[in-house]
Amino acid sequence: MCGIVGYVGEQDALEVVLGGLRRLEYRGYDSAGVAVLGADGVLRTERKAGKLANLEKELAEESLPGTLGIGHTRWATHGAPTDRNAHPHLDCANKVAVVHNGTIENFEQLVVGLDARGHERRSDTDTEVVAHLVEERYAGDLAATVRGICKDLEGSFVLVVAHQDEPDLVVAARRNLPLVVGLGEGENFLGSDVTAFIAHTREALAVDQDQ
Ligand code: GLU
Repeated sequence: MCGIVGYVGEQDALEVVLGGLRRLEYRGYDSAGVAVLGADGVLRTERKAGKLANLEKELAEESLPGTLGIGHTRWATHGAPTDRNAHPHLDCANKVAVVHNGTIENFEQLVVGLDARGHERRSDTDTEVVAHLVEERYAGDLAATVRGICKDLEGSFVLVVAHQDEPDLVVAARRNLPLVVGLGEGENFLGSDVTAFIAHTREALAVDQDQ
């Protein structure tokens, strides 16, 4: 079921994240994307339908400098496999980036509330609701915000979330799908499995159900 990668450290995040996505390619996917938080505090994303090579081609023409990054290979369940539906998904203010593997079964209920409260959705995915929920509920503590949101989600998910206002933090959560943390020195990794970061560290922690 596709792949997810996260990185915070001192290396070039884009290179680490793309390397991880490449090693997760065997899991199958229909599109791919990355978000990197720059030293200027701006979250930059690139997303592309098709093979990782398509994304890498786009990235060759644009630099995404930064030491915090998240990446995703998608297997579409909600919305066609297009550039627009590829992850990461952002909130209205482009301050929150979310990647997600799995399905959020109650997303239609959540969408009704978000639409009524004026959020502008830019994809057909179930995933995007999480970015808007973070936007609504964030009060300075991303981990607490994501923990609260997970209680309102039904289905299966690995979620990896970055927020512009917390430039040293990537928050992840899982239910019914696998997620592993890689422990480095002055850097940490997230991956759907250890192959995502095996080139950097062999120390890993499995994330428990609903952790
Ligand atoms: N349900 C999400 C989507 O369709 C994530 C699919 C996945 O890659 O696991 O975009």
